Amino acid sequence: MNENIIELTYDLVRMHTTADRPDELQRAIQYVNDYFKPIDSLVIKRYESRHKPSIVISTQDTLTPDILLVGHLDVVPATEELFEPRVAGTRVYGRGVCDMKSECAVMMRIMREIAALEEKPNIALMLTTDEEVGGFDGVNYLINEIGYRCKIALVPDGGTAPDDLVITNKGILTLRLNATGRRAHGSRPWLGENAIDSLIAAYARIRELFPNTPTAEDHWYHTCNIGTIQGGETFNQVPDFATCDLDIRFTEQTNVDDLFAAVKEKAGPDVEVINRISGSPIFTDPNHPYVKMYEEAVEKTLELKTEHNQHCGSNDGRFLSELGIPLIISRPVSGDQHSPHEWLEIESLPKFHRVYWQFIQALHESFKN
Ligand SMILES: [Zn+2]
Repeated sequence: MNENIIELTYDLVRMHTTADRPDELQRAIQYVNDYFKPIDSLVIKRYESRHKPSIVISTQDTLTPDILLVGHLDVVPATEELFEPRVAGTRVYGRGVCDMKSECAVMMRIMREIAALEEKPNIALMLTTDEEVGGFDGVNYLINEIGYRCKIALVPDGGTAPDDLVITNKGILTLRLNATGRRAHGSRPWLGENAIDSLIAAYARIRELFPNTPTAEDHWYHTCNIGTIQGGETFNQVPDFATCDLDIRFTEQTNVDDLFAAVKEKAGPDVEVINRISGSPIFTDPNHPYVKMYEEAVEKTLELKTEHNQHCGSNDGRFLSELGIPLIISRPVSGDQHSPHEWLEIESLPKFHRVYWQFIQALHESFKN
């Protein structure tokens, strides 16, 4: 059993926990299970939805812990060598060292330490294996199907440092557009109906909803990226089918259903719009007392002032944010997640652990009153 947080991180990084490796997802959950098994004072619950395994470790047999620690053990695909941690200078490189196996290791360690306390907070650690593919069978399933609730959730899956607190995350709406037409010879286009023309016209109308506003330095506006486009078979034929994928990110003032309806309206009746992955923006009130307590924990342990930031990415916290549950989103000093250069500042890991420990103790004290 690995007592050292960095070694524990390396163990987790060495597992190839990508969505296409269900065996490795199971192995990671089993590893966590074995890590906690010897401890009698913790409750272990395992779940599975559509072949995505999850595990919840808690100090009480309950669906309503006060504090919920949320992490995912899956990672985005990477070349083989990235699954072996590589230390260079003060950093370690590898898939998941930032997003988010090091954070999972910290939270696992904290649960072990809490288990040894005489008086334990009502806390649970939820680890899932599908965040990178939408989180529907992990956190969504555990919250919306099984019914887990909490007073506050700690989701160390955003930001760039312990003192970089994410207050808002953009929402996500991933769409596929399908246009159909009628085939004809390319020399007599008047006999057909060109699906690519219809698709391009629909896309141009949809783009009107996403004017570029390059003056906004923080990029806090709606964006739309066309990621793929396909259609037609050969140069001298009027194509009868065309399709494209859109990745839309939107700010917290907008509701995902309203935005979807607006896009559908722009697409018109002839172009099918399929909602593939969608999620609400995340928003935590920056004046919430828990936010203040987190800032105090950072100040006390690291002597740093916490900054509030907004990030364009999304994470599993959105399923909790949708229910009005406040989130604390931060992480150790790390970055370049999803890239071949994903890194973690090694000495930041024990510091992050100290912040979390301090914060959890303070939360526990506040719940007693
Ligand atoms: Zn993540």
